[in-house]
Amino acid sequence: MPISRRDFLQATAGASALGSLGFAPASGAEPPSHEQTAAAARRTDQDGWFDRPMRWAQLTLVENDPGRFDPQFWLDYFRRLHADAVTLSAGGIVAYYPTDVPLHHRSAWLGTTDPFGTLVAGCRAAKMYVVARTDPHAVRDEVKLAHPDWIAVNAAGEPRRHWANPELWITCALGPYNFEFMDQVHREIESKYRVDGIFSNRWAPQGGDCFCVHCQQNFKTATGRELPRTTDRRDPARRAFIEWRIARLTELWKKWDATVRSINGEARFIPNGPPDMKTAGELAAIQFADFQARRGLTPPWSNGQRAKEYRSVMGRRPIGGIFSVGLEEPYRWKDSVQSEPEIRLWVAEGTANGMRPWVTKFSGVLYDRRWLPMVERIYDWHYKHERYLRNESPLARVALLYSEQTAAFHSGVATGDRPGDHVLGMYQALVESRLPFELQHEALLTPDRLDRFKLLILADAAALSTAQCEAIRAYVGRGGSVLATFTTSLFDEVGQRRADFGLADLFGVSFSGRIDGPMQNSYLSLDADRATGRRHPILDGLDDTPRIVNGVFRVDVRPTQDFPSPVTLIPSYPDLPMEDVYPRVPRTDTREVYLRDLGKSRVVYIPWDIDRTFWDVLCIDHLRLLRNAVTWAANEPAPVEVEGPGVIDVTIWRQAESMTVHLVNLTNPMMMKGPLRETIPVGPLRVRIRIPSSVRPRRVQLLTAGTTINPQSTGGVLTLTVPSVDVHEVVAIDL
Ligand SMILES: [Zn+2]
Repeated sequence: MPISRRDFLQATAGASALGSLGFAPASGAEPPSHEQTAAAARRTDQDGWFDRPMRWAQLTLVENDPGRFDPQFWLDYFRRLHADAVTLSAGGIVAYYPTDVPLHHRSAWLGTTDPFGTLVAGCRAAKMYVVARTDPHAVRDEVKLAHPDWIAVNAAGEPRRHWANPELWITCALGPYNFEFMDQVHREIESKYRVDGIFSNRWAPQGGDCFCVHCQQNFKTATGRELPRTTDRRDPARRAFIEWRIARLTELWKKWDATVRSINGEARFIPNGPPDMKTAGELAAIQFADFQARRGLTPPWSNGQRAKEYRSVMGRRPIGGIFSVGLEEPYRWKDSVQSEPEIRLWVAEGTANGMRPWVTKFSGVLYDRRWLPMVERIYDWHYKHERYLRNESPLARVALLYSEQTAAFHSGVATGDRPGDHVLGMYQALVESRLPFELQHEALLTPDRLDRFKLLILADAAALSTAQCEAIRAYVGRGGSVLATFTTSLFDEVGQRRADFGLADLFGVSFSGRIDGPMQNSYLSLDADRATGRRHPILDGLDDTPRIVNGVFRVDVRPTQDFPSPVTLIPSYPDLPMEDVYPRVPRTDTREVYLRDLGKSRVVYIPWDIDRTFWDVLCIDHLRLLRNAVTWAANEPAPVEVEGPGVIDVTIWRQAESMTVHLVNLTNPMMMKGPLRETIPVGPLRVRIRIPSSVRPRRVQLLTAGTTINPQSTGGVLTLTVPSVDVHEVVAIDL
């Protein structure tokens, strides 16, 4: 394979060695010394140049830029940003250099110039790394005439015109256009300019499945099947297609990468969006998350979520966070400029969650220049505090399982049960609880990955393989705790329903065979223990509350052992006419939360859709119950606690010689739907940070405020006050 097994093993070994830094791991290993962390930082240098750049910039040229835009303006701007790496348009749909590859369309404005070469030379002179950008997804008539089989074909057998520019044709991503023609283009760019990498935008199938002769033939050869005409994920042909598409894109990635590396051993091919995350973890030295801004109803933490998704497979390898400066709505105003508070919050969420900023701008000629100083201010801050942003490992003790196979193969149990909503609800609850957490990818449930965490959360992780269930069981055996909801493990890795949960023994319950819902007007009774009269800690903050609303769907289960009964079912009763709205069955013995205390480990199983319903209706009682369940299951103090008003995303990190706590202020009337009009500072915030016993804080600073503070220090806990957070504050602790 073109990316050597050695490189991958080295990268992942680095990640896991560093993964056990910090607070008492479940396995009880000692935190590392300063020498060990410094050695680990040096070791990553052997993996190539990719970890060195901290700030990226991208200029995507448009066809009429050559001769009209001013390369020197951009070179000066990149320098003002302290950018250490850039991505520049080279070829694909349009070549911005004098290409000799037949049918590779030179910009009609190119003449005898070489704008790509000019920019490359200028960036090199300023000691920046240069990645060439290509975009292979569309071609002109002349290409279609010469190679009709390179064009994507729709289900009706017609060649596919470009949806936005009907003069262009969509190419087949999985056939000879990419495997042969674009391979030649990449070979030429690497040979002529010896760039540090090639990045392809829209390199995967665009605008729907392709039914061209190559796709038909290749799919048949690989699977013995005809291309599926259904998008039903439970259909075996569809499942085979999903797997084939990933395999084909992986092959393409490897081919382009081998071409690039055969010319320049230090360079790599970098896809915009991997075939799947698991493959990114196996192949990539660096990845860029292309999630440029909010659109529609989107919380700002989605950018941090994307960072966590990438990190769940990349470990400490670098992740660039691509952000745009414009409005990113379906109407695609690519030349627009967004409000500064919105851009700042979006980038802060990425930075706080470990991404390196990567500003992207289309068109070398600018129509609206308001964004220039905004981005400069963000990058200035980043440059000034770079040493505290070069993270070695997150210190979160809670992980939320990130299941790509559930997303691919499980379509929910009923209309209204969208699988992704369970994760979103859990994510929102963890952010509101101010608990630092990571995402844990399902393909990497190894002891050195998992044992960094005290608690693994399975938010309706429906599709789990037998081996994955076994890995989770073993994690609990080693002292880890689990919080699981709804249909977790009720399906196998390709979405086939099991007779019982794969984790039935861990939960202490069995599936009865029935899933109820959508339910109207159902409740949960909150009860004290009958023997002691005391309420369970998962009901903290709900003291005077006899009942709370139920979720919308529930899995009917039978306990296979004894459990406490703090939360029981009040079944649905009529919600109309009003005269009929009274409980027919005032209470039952049906538990709706199952709590197992195994000593060091604790297991919580919630058989209803608490996370999905929380995302749907954001009921504060559900937030309290979830927060308490997480706290009870974790059974240890959190590494950082923040008191004070507002909604704050909290992350905690270790660097080679420091620790940081990031506080991102999400408090805003535009929190769930951007763009922000203004920032609304919150504070004062009382922050308690646990310091590993082996280290001694030398200095504590608030990076944005620019102040040094003297925290109280007792029993390994630093207590300090952050007077105010506008968008983003970082408590930086030199060790
Ligand atoms: Zn095709």
